[in-house]
Amino acid sequence: MINLGNEHHEFADEIKADSGINFNVCLHCKTCANGCPFIEGMDYAPNAVIRLVQLGLEDVALECSSIWICVGYNTCSSYCPMAIDIPAVMDGLRHKAIEKGVKIAEPDVLNFHTEVLNTVKKYGRTHKLEIMMRYKLKKMDFLSDMGLGLKMLKKRKLDLTPSKVQDKKAIEKIFKEK
Ligand code: SF4
Repeated sequence: MINLGNEHHEFADEIKADSGINFNVCLHCKTCANGCPFIEGMDYAPNAVIRLVQLGLEDVALECSSIWICVGYNTCSSYCPMAIDIPAVMDGLRHKAIEKGVKIAEPDVLNFHTEVLNTVKKYGRTHKLEIMMRYKLKKMDFLSDMGLGLKMLKKRKLDLTPSKVQDKKAIEKIFKEK
């Protein structure tokens, strides 16, 4: 039997409130881990991340790579017998990691997310070419995906100019509310 003090509950309560998900109903059946296509890149399986939060192991949970490797594919939640929205929990943990200023386990992933959001903020839509160029500039890595980029340009998979939404005010409102 593990007895948890209030300090342990506090972190779990925060993540529960932020994500809006009651992960305490988790059975630890590991169905989520078995169905996840990104499990190989994770240091903790999705249910293990839930366990870290339940045990109040805040630093370990916020500094683990799994919360950044999760792409919100939702295979886990669609298979989960308790219908737990695990990507929402991961999202809550990512927000908390940024808020608390902990060491980000996968800074490249955070940089990529930031660049995606930057183009949405600017144009109301993503602009893949700009995302990749800014991301590569931050990494000072210009050559590694050059071949793929050129192939995509040739096949017109990358637009040279961004397409913009008409109602820019609606986008500004969304970002202001965040
Ligand atoms: S599938 Fe659902 S209940 Fe099972 S371990 Fe994963 S989160 Fe918990």
